[in-house]
Amino acid sequence: MKLQIINSLNHLKQLNDNPFALQKIAYWLYEYNDLYKEVKNYSENLCEQCQEWKANGLPYDCLQGTEYCTKRYRYFTNFYEEAEYGIKMQELDSICKIALEEYNTYSNNDVLLKNWLIKYFDIGYNKLAVFYYDHLDYSVDEGEVVHPHFGNSPIGEFGVCIDRMYYENLIEFDDVFKMLFYERKIYPEKLKEIEEEIQKVAIL
Ligand SMILES: [Zn+2]
Repeated sequence: MKLQIINSLNHLKQLNDNPFALQKIAYWLYEYNDLYKEVKNYSENLCEQCQEWKANGLPYDCLQGTEYCTKRYRYFTNFYEEAEYGIKMQELDSICKIALEEYNTYSNNDVLLKNWLIKYFDIGYNKLAVFYYDHLDYSVDEGEVVHPHFGNSPIGEFGVCIDRMYYENLIEFDDVFKMLFYERKIYPEKLKEIEEEIQKVAIL
């Protein structure tokens, strides 16, 4: 299993055009999906040491990634899931494109803009909540383009940056949504509700 993992990551490294083309990540995920499932299944059975700790009511996690623990390849499944998330997020780009087209016809009509926020609330507020901070908020040299980053390979010293061009609508949508919702406060009752929720959590 270990050799297959190493080979798969080396294969991915070869596919890197820095940034990655979207299709190459999708291809790699497809190609190694069986390996992913195999490792995932394997890591779900507790190793003997973990079973013993569990039986004694102790926290069970072979944190050192010891040679015998079934969870020792989780670095691979975690990485695979991060890359997969990048592809899933990109699927939202076409919806964001439609949303932006609608937005551009509403000029400054607050009623229409509010309906727009309601319509796209799940994407703008839930799905993209921390997208910028998690995937675009890193520094690059001057003049370099920031491409969305989805995890670092556990071996081979490379990260998964997927070409920004596949996410242009999504990134622009995210800006527009946050501007309307937080700065212009076009949907104030929802904003208030959220702020109250945050305060409740802060008090607890
Ligand atoms: Zn273990």
